[in-house]
Amino acid sequence: MIATATAAFGYFYTRGTVKQNIFDQLEIAADVLLEQVHTFLDEKKDRTLGFSSDGLIREYVEEISGKEKRSEYYTTILNNHLATNKKTLNSSIVEVFIVDFQGKVIISTDANRIGEDVLDKKYFSEAEILKVFVSDPHYGPCGKGLVIDFSTVLLSKIKQEPIGIIVNRIKIEQDGDWNQDDTSVPQESDWNYSRLIAVNKARTIDFSSDGFIRDCTEEITRREDRLQYYTDRLNTHIIRNKQPLDPDILAVFITDLNGKIISSSEIGQIGKDVSDKVYYLTTMKRGSCVSDLYYSSSTRQGMFEVSRLLLCKDGQRIIGIIVNRYSGDSLKRITHSGISELEQGRQLEGLGETGELYIVNRDKLMITESRFKVGTILKQIVDTEGVRTAFNNGVGMIGIYTGYRGIPVIGVSRYVESVDWVVLAEKDVSEAFAPLVRLRNITILIGIVGIVIVVIIAIFIATGITRPIQKFVEGTRKISEGNLAYRIETGGRDEIGYLATSFNDMTYKLEESKKQLQDYTDHLEEKVEDKIGEIKRGKEYTDNLIETAQDAIVCADEKGMINVWNRMAEKIFGYSRSEIMGESVTTIIPEKYKKEHQKGMKRFLETHKPVIIGRIIEVTGRTKDGTEIPIEISLSDHKEEEKYSFTAILRDITEKKKVEGERKRILDELRFKNQELEQIIYTVSHDLRSPLVNIMGFSKELDHTLKEVHSILNDESISSALEHKLAPALDEDIPEALKFILTSTSKMDSLLNGLLRISRMGQAKFNIKRLDMNSLVSNVVNDFKHRTMEMGITIKVGPLPSCNGDEVQINQVFSNLLDNAMKYLDSGRPGIIRISGTRQLVYCVEDNGVGIAQEYQNKIFEIFHRLNPDSDKGEGLGLSIVRRILDKHGGKIWCESRPGKGSKFFVALSG
Ligand code: ADP
Repeated sequence: MIATATAAFGYFYTRGTVKQNIFDQLEIAADVLLEQVHTFLDEKKDRTLGFSSDGLIREYVEEISGKEKRSEYYTTILNNHLATNKKTLNSSIVEVFIVDFQGKVIISTDANRIGEDVLDKKYFSEAEILKVFVSDPHYGPCGKGLVIDFSTVLLSKIKQEPIGIIVNRIKIEQDGDWNQDDTSVPQESDWNYSRLIAVNKARTIDFSSDGFIRDCTEEITRREDRLQYYTDRLNTHIIRNKQPLDPDILAVFITDLNGKIISSSEIGQIGKDVSDKVYYLTTMKRGSCVSDLYYSSSTRQGMFEVSRLLLCKDGQRIIGIIVNRYSGDSLKRITHSGISELEQGRQLEGLGETGELYIVNRDKLMITESRFKVGTILKQIVDTEGVRTAFNNGVGMIGIYTGYRGIPVIGVSRYVESVDWVVLAEKDVSEAFAPLVRLRNITILIGIVGIVIVVIIAIFIATGITRPIQKFVEGTRKISEGNLAYRIETGGRDEIGYLATSFNDMTYKLEESKKQLQDYTDHLEEKVEDKIGEIKRGKEYTDNLIETAQDAIVCADEKGMINVWNRMAEKIFGYSRSEIMGESVTTIIPEKYKKEHQKGMKRFLETHKPVIIGRIIEVTGRTKDGTEIPIEISLSDHKEEEKYSFTAILRDITEKKKVEGERKRILDELRFKNQELEQIIYTVSHDLRSPLVNIMGFSKELDHTLKEVHSILNDESISSALEHKLAPALDEDIPEALKFILTSTSKMDSLLNGLLRISRMGQAKFNIKRLDMNSLVSNVVNDFKHRTMEMGITIKVGPLPSCNGDEVQINQVFSNLLDNAMKYLDSGRPGIIRISGTRQLVYCVEDNGVGIAQEYQNKIFEIFHRLNPDSDKGEGLGLSIVRRILDKHGGKIWCESRPGKGSKFFVALSG
């Protein structure tokens, strides 16, 4: 195994190394080729540059191409010269113009005449060198009056060659009666006339000898044959002196700025328009150009152009473009020479049989010969990864890809930016990796032998290891089929033995779990059913509870739609369930409260702050027949899945309200009656007092009279018999009757006093305020000080809480209770009285007196009720006054007592 791995590693490592070597070699080849392409192109560019700076070429081209422009220039300045410097010399000069030898006016002070044909005019045909022709007077064009033309031939400055005819047109002054039609010269002015002629002849000669005029005219009228002369000489120069310099040059030609060939090593090309060619357009734009290789159908070969701008001698002005056309075979040479050079230099030994160097142009066409195919130039498309990558990244690549012949190659590509070409060096993968094939075969052999050895060893080991594992597999299968009782034999003490033990443990636990699970599953259904039953029962119970509730139960959703409506709700509101379900709760709300209800609902849903929820309140409901009934409502809310629902428990309180009304009425009546009674008590007790006072007064009077009768009877003059007869009445009956009358009236007086006090108390106004009970009770105790000391009574007062009440009345309460406690002490033991109070404002007056039997403990609070009516200790009013006072304070009084032991009187007040 290790051997196989090592062999494989060795193979791949070697493969990598070989690949890297080939890459390096191809990279060198591609770089050399790239360098050569650059050198080649630079050489071609330099040559074109050399041509463009050739003085003769520049001069001649300037001559040829500059003609038209110059003539324009000279025309303008000559016109100006004639108009400003010549015509103005004399006012009689109407016009000065120059005619070329074709009889055309080329210069004139009258711009309208330029271009006019004057071939038939005598001043043209009869003009002579160094002589002046004088025409007959005639009417000039455009109404210039009578004129005479003077003409002479213009000669060039240096060569004295005729270059044109200059004409001077002179106006003759008219003396009035010259007939317009009469062209004859008037006789009297003969002298003047001949003088004028003479003067103007001289002037014309003058003009014709003006150097400036002659120069300009020469330039303007330069003959075509001179152009031809320059062209011929230029062509000859190119053919003889330039083209032979480079064997790759197919043609050298020069165009003017309009793209017209003005000179060429191929004479037939002169005059051809190349303004649409790439080299022309690019050169005009960038100053120079190396065109892509293209196939010329006329010459049947690939070619390309190198061109650049031609500047005039002083370098200031562009005068044309010079173009060198090269043969495409020149490129073939560099790719071939590249290979041979490299082979010679033994740098690219590995290029071998399939190594190839070639160039691809921007159209992905091969522009050099293929080593394998014939006629590939500009025909073979090379759309390989090498080419694409070079165009895309502008650099090139190294790698293995499918070559243009469709077979894998190891290749290096390089991008040639200046011409947008790609140079490539490639070698077939099959050749490159040939030495590796043997290595691979050896590796495979080693691999196979290794595998066989491994298999044999594996079989040996397998018999030892796989058997227990098979047992495992068998066991696993059985267990997976559900046989959890199956146990794997645990023979060995090795890892597999331990594993089998653990496996059996696991199976046992699994079996147990399965049993438990089965058990649980068996009961699950039952449990689920029980649960469902429970839920059902629960629901039934709840439904039943709602249905049978003695209060109306109404539920509504967030929108106020009713969804629960029990029997009591039906009864109270009169709507059946089917009628009301899904309706709004406002159905049972009186019209006047609907808005308030809706506002309340809205506020709760927005703020979630309950106002009436959770409280029991009384409202008014509306029944089906429109009746409004008082109801007591307890509202609760419930939120589920972000939605609120509301439950209202409603109770018809019509009856309760009625009872309450009745109670109030009775209470009012009772209060009224009570007032009436108090009034009666007052009246009775007050009014009864006057007759009682009379009775008491008269009884006393009677007693007095009786005493007088006694003194009269004691007189000696009254017979003893009469005395004897009167004695029982006077001594016994009357005094006894009087005694009864006085006792009764005094009792009656005290009763009436009591009644008066009670009735007054009922009318008294209460002034409720905070009372300091400690000081109030201590004042009361103080009032009894004398009596307590006399009777030897101990009074203990505990700390007492403050309460609210009328000071005078509460003072009365504690005075009465303390008075009773002292009155009803047991004479057999020293009296002890305790006054205490709790925080709940329950005060207690306790004594150790005679006590009160259970059955009387309530009765003692009734008016005039006394347990021992014969005793003269009281009137039976004290406790009833206390109770009335406490009633009026909203307080209470009660008694706890044990006869013979003592009594406790509790007073409850409010804070
Ligand atoms: P009076 O004391 O003037 O008789 P009250 O109305 O004060 O009238 O008391 C009614 C009766 O209650 C008393 O006659 C008395 O028999 C009984 N009584 C009141 N206070 C006590 C007390 N502290 N111990 C025992 N008996 C009492």
